[in-house]
Amino acid sequence: MTAPYTCEQLGNQTALTFPGKPPENIRAALKARGFRWNAKNRLWWRRGVNGTADFLTWLDKQYEPEPLHPCRRKLDSGQQCGQPARVRSPGPYTMILCGACWREYQDAQPSQYVSK
Ligand SMILES: [Zn+2]
Repeated sequence: MTAPYTCEQLGNQTALTFPGKPPENIRAALKARGFRWNAKNRLWWRRGVNGTADFLTWLDKQYEPEPLHPCRRKLDSGQQCGQPARVRSPGPYTMILCGACWREYQDAQPSQYVSK
């Protein structure tokens, strides 16, 4: 997967373009690195190109897909489901469930406990 942004170095400036508004943690990191939002050209820019490679490495990591884990749900047979699963956070705790088990879990919950 390619990270959804483009980086250009124009003279002594670095410009980053995202297709939409980047997530909060990325906007915070951009600001911390001295990038400023240019609304007219719809890009993030800063003077200087030093450290850009490190920042782009960090940025790429943010867009890597979440690693898959085996689904932790215990089936009626006593075995673990084991399908490729993601980390789900339905409340104060975290569960690792595949898509099918996650839908079953959500269906089994009173609607006020299912957010997002
Ligand atoms: Zn499962």
